[in-house]
Parts: sequence; structure tokens; C-alpha cells
Amino acid sequence: MERNRNLLIRNARLVTPTGVREGDCLIRDGRIAALGEAKSPGRTPELDAEGRYLAPGFVDLHVHGGAGADFMDGDPDAARAIAQFLAAHGTTGLLATIVPGPLDRMRKAMAAVAGVPGILGIHLEGPFLSPEKAGALDPGWFLPPGREAFRELVAGFEGAIKVVTFAPELPGALDLVTEIQTIGAVPAIGHTTATYEQATAALDHGARHVAHLGNAMTGLHHRGPGCVGAALASGASIELICDGFHLHPAFVRLVVAFLRGRGEFHRFCLVTDATAAAGMPDGNYRWGDREVHRQGREVRLADGTLAGSALTLDRALRNAIEFAGLSLEEALPLVTRNPARALGLDGELGSLAVGARADLVLLDLDLTLRATIRSDEIASHDR
Ligand SMILES: [Zn+2]
Repeated sequence: MERNRNLLIRNARLVTPTGVREGDCLIRDGRIAALGEAKSPGRTPELDAEGRYLAPGFVDLHVHGGAGADFMDGDPDAARAIAQFLAAHGTTGLLATIVPGPLDRMRKAMAAVAGVPGILGIHLEGPFLSPEKAGALDPGWFLPPGREAFRELVAGFEGAIKVVTFAPELPGALDLVTEIQTIGAVPAIGHTTATYEQATAALDHGARHVAHLGNAMTGLHHRGPGCVGAALASGASIELICDGFHLHPAFVRLVVAFLRGRGEFHRFCLVTDATAAAGMPDGNYRWGDREVHRQGREVRLADGTLAGSALTLDRALRNAIEFAGLSLEEALPLVTRNPARALGLDGELGSLAVGARADLVLLDLDLTLRATIRSDEIASHDR
């Protein structure tokens, strides 16, 4: 069946890169064709936004699962179920995030996400990480950086892998940066005991993204500014998990004040790091080979270590606004344009602009998600 890829959305508050204004949005062939006063081009289906915000769909650079499923299941149906669950929370583009495990298991997980609508590619969170900063990942599967190990892991998935997180203090890490760049992926630092100097060396060498700033890395100490200090002082894009557990709200405010002061808000991305427990009731869930327990909004290992989150990006957006007193115009890029820019997709994704992919969300004025519109299937997921 041929999918309808045209739609006229009327009567919306358009959240554009230059501000919020009232108007219509015409979608043709899955792309934004016009914004403002749109004339009805005949038989195009229409949707009345009833004065709600129309914004770009959200982009999550770091997510492991949701709705009871885990990308490490290595099952295309599970991957599809995760993408659908995330779309119901406004995420129209995501990196399926793969954790260290047996080589065949990691590769099966990468194969399972190919062609799944909404999945932009793969974030390899490891296996070249520090066992001392494993967090909830299984250090039994961590590897020292090595060209051969990397090539064996990524063979056949070169185009699909968009971000690779590694620990910059490990011997061979700088050569790994070059390998990661060779396949066109973004080298990212994380799960690391790196000193300020070690982290800065990797950032100077081409690493340009930082996985969950503050979590599983050396913190900001006055005599050793650590990975957090190096990340802030660099030009790298940074992820923050704004669930209220991974980071103190005051830390989020400090990062906001710092980036705002430097005019570098575009570096700031919100991620969920969500596991299978997201969207599910309290209970036990699998994450790779491990069991994680959700209670309330927290997900932990049996020993109490935070194990990913139960966060969704719509809530992360509202949390960031609440924690740091951001306006909608300031906060929205943290889940749209900034992560798109980190992937080199600015203009294609993450902006309400003519020519961009029509991945969109409709939000109530209190930022409750009302509908998600994905360019590959122009049919809104009403909630
Ligand atoms: Zn993660």
C-alpha cells in the first residue's frame, strides 16, 4: 500500500529556529514544504493543531531500550517495538545504543536495528572502556583499544555506526580515535578515569562528543578538573541525563550557566540512557546479560548502582526546563537541533524549517506530548 506522505497541519504555534509564531505547516513527500500561511493544495489531508506547539521530533543519541525490550535482544521486532514506544514520547530519531557483550551478540544487536524506522544508527558504548568506571555495564566484556578488535567488531556496519564511546586514558586510545573517524563515526569519551590532561589530549585529537557528562567519569576537582572539566572546556557536544537521579539539578544549572556564558548552548544535548524498564511498571528487566530493577523512576542493579534510566525525552525536556529555568525556545534544541548537529544532520533533522525531514511533535502548552508525526509514515500517533 502506498503511504500518504503529504499533510497540512493548520493552526499551530510553530517553534522555528528564529522563534515561535502562529501558522500552518505543509508537508510534501515527507518533508516540510512550507511554513506560515499555507494555501490548501487541494486533496491534501489536514490536521488542526488547535493552537498547540508544532516542534521538530526529538533525537536521542543514547538509548538502550524501552517498553520491556532491549537493543541487546538482537531482535528486529524488539528494535521496532522500542522505536515505536519512543515515538509515542516524541523521539523520532535515535541511536540504538549497544553495550559490551560477546562479539557475536553485539554484532547481532547491530544487525537487528538495520532499516528500523526512527533508528538513525548505532551508538557503540564500548567495549573500549575503563573497568573502574563500568557503571552498570559488565566489565567482563570490556576490551583494551586495538585496531584489530575494532575492525572485527564493526566490519559490515561501518556506515551504521554513528558514535563510539571509549575511555581516552587506555593505551592505544588515540589510535582508536583515528579508527573511529575512518568509519565516519563520532569519537566520544565516557566510562573513564581520564585526568583532565588525558581527556583533553583525546578531545584535541578528534574526540568530539562526551557520553553522559558527570556519570561514570572523573569529576570536577579543584586540583584535578577531570573529564568533566576537560569536556566543559572543549568544543565537544555533551550529553546530560536529566532524570533528577543521575545529576543534581544544581549541576545542570551550572552547565547551563557555563554554556550560556560562552555562547555554546548548541553543544548541549539531553539523552535518556533509557533501558527496557522505561514505560514499564516497577519490576525486574534484562539489560544485556544483567538484571536491572525499576522502582519508581529509578533503575538500579541489585547492588544499588544506577543502571540506565526509565526516562523519556519528553520528560527530560520538562525536567531541564524545571531544573535550570529555561524557556521553551532555549530548551527545545537540547532534544532536537543540538543532537542532530552532533551527528552532522543539522538542517535535515531537528529543525522546523523548509526542506527538513517532517519528523514532528505536537505539544500542549504545558509541553505534554499530544502527537508524533514521523516522515516515513505521515500518520499521527495520537495519545
Ligand atoms: Zn548508556
